[in-house]
Amino acid sequence: MAKVQNIKGMRDHLPQAMLLRQYILETVRRVAERHGFEPLQTPVVEYAEVLEGKLGDDEKLIYRFTDHGERGLALRYDQTVPLARVVAQYAGQLALPWRRYAYGPSYRGERPARGRYREFYQFDADIVGSGSPLADAEIVALLTESLEALGFPGFTTLLNHRQIIGGIARTSGLDETSAGGVYRAIDKFDKLGADGVLAELLRMGVAPAAADQILALVQIDGTPGEVLAALAERLGADARATAAITNLWAIIDALGQMGVSPERYRVAPRLARGLSYYTGLVFEANTPHWPEGSLLGGGRYDELIGQFAGRPIPTVGLAFGLDRLHDVMEELGLGPRPATTAVAYVTVFGPEQAAASLALARELRAGGVNTLISLETGALGKQFKEADRKGVRFALVLGPDELTRGEVVVKDLRGGGQRSLPQAEVVAALLAE
Ligand code: AMP
Repeated sequence: MAKVQNIKGMRDHLPQAMLLRQYILETVRRVAERHGFEPLQTPVVEYAEVLEGKLGDDEKLIYRFTDHGERGLALRYDQTVPLARVVAQYAGQLALPWRRYAYGPSYRGERPARGRYREFYQFDADIVGSGSPLADAEIVALLTESLEALGFPGFTTLLNHRQIIGGIARTSGLDETSAGGVYRAIDKFDKLGADGVLAELLRMGVAPAAADQILALVQIDGTPGEVLAALAERLGADARATAAITNLWAIIDALGQMGVSPERYRVAPRLARGLSYYTGLVFEANTPHWPEGSLLGGGRYDELIGQFAGRPIPTVGLAFGLDRLHDVMEELGLGPRPATTAVAYVTVFGPEQAAASLALARELRAGGVNTLISLETGALGKQFKEADRKGVRFALVLGPDELTRGEVVVKDLRGGGQRSLPQAEVVAALLAE
């Protein structure tokens, strides 16, 4: 028989991993709902033409296949393009601006590596139908609150604007058609370093003086104010770059008013982000504990939805990589680590006590205590062992003596102690633990 295995780059998540994944999802979802975002779900399969022409170079990573009718289909690459389709398709039913969140698997035919998979879960939050810098700032505030709620230490969000990179390319003497190549070269800065990016720019045919200038500009560093002031000085002759700098100022002002700590973000002119559909703000959150890639990324894409809707609909959004968050949290020991879902294990002393034990389990569940019931009768030692192996903290015993007294023995399998409690008090006692 062939070896039993799953597909490379696609993972099974066993219960322990799932408990942490669900915790991450719930935490991020709660923050999004606190900001009034509404849920959306779309199929994982789209008509191939929905995804085509939207992703630039990344289009080659799309998984394609044909259905029985030979129609070209594709697995969704992200949650953004399906959102654009939905906005166009249900135009009359959605009141703009619309804040929506969505989560689920996305698929990319990448070379699998640490933190990079072919099936991975993304959690997206987008504000559709607003070009206000307040919308950009709200997305950045939402990601900051989410990472803080998850307990991430020392993360930084890098902010940039597509027209700052455009301005850098233009003031270095490059035309619009070369700008895409410049984005891609700059995007590799953290991976290749300054020398690597220089080599890449020269390979693209950028003149050495222009390549040097690009490199000097993308390495400007300092507080957001310092970086923007330095960029304003160097890119002042480029009207679009100047407008972009004003826009970033407005976003940063709003972040301050929203209470986002200035330690949480920086302006990084080297941040390009690969996807071709961004038109304004771009951002990425990183942590020094995970140098291989970003925890999340996003930006403003004012033209993508227009490709479906026939009119521009300004939109800004983000995508958390739930797998990345999970991998980093696992490595740093962040988040709760329950061994299992159940807190209580109700033993069954003997056939005569079975009905009372089932009633006790029902009472515990009704009171909000996750409860396992033994599927075996008698041999309490074996039942305790099963509870312990599952990682359930409390084993409960209802023997003939306890039943007569209306009590339950609660045995703490972690601490070793045990006590008898009136049955009416058991739910409250376990909830208090
Ligand atoms: P993108 O859709 O490329 O902007 O990516 C947004 C986020 O999704 C990234 O910051 C990652 O956290 C996550 N992500 C993207 N590609 C992958 C992948 N192949 N495997 C795991 N996570 C990914």
